[in-house]
Amino acid sequence: MHELSIIVSMMEQIVDVAKENKIEKIDEVHLETGVLRQVIPEVMQEAFASVKLNTICENAILQIIEAPALVLCKQCKSEFEPSIDDFICKICNLANVDILKGNEIILKAVIGDSRNESF
Ligand SMILES: [Zn+2]
Repeated sequence: MHELSIIVSMMEQIVDVAKENKIEKIDEVHLETGVLRQVIPEVMQEAFASVKLNTICENAILQIIEAPALVLCKQCKSEFEPSIDDFICKICNLANVDILKGNEIILKAVIGDSRNESF
């Protein structure tokens, strides 16, 4: 399952971020997923729910932000937002594009409590 592997690698990043920031308990995780990755939010949530058990994310909420795609037509150099299965440039009528955005999975924010502060 594609979503599960995304969540597992995301978890590794979260643990690193938490260590750097001395966060012991995560409340919220914000993940931006490019629309071209075609992740299913419900499946992501389920994967997160199973992976987060017994981790610092145990009580965390996963916020999924879907980022739109952007492509560049190699022919006329115009940029446009394609549909998932339609990369045809409206000007040239050709599907000859570079993908600029839409393929990324980005950990945008990790919000939590830092309980390791010394007073
Ligand atoms: Zn074009």
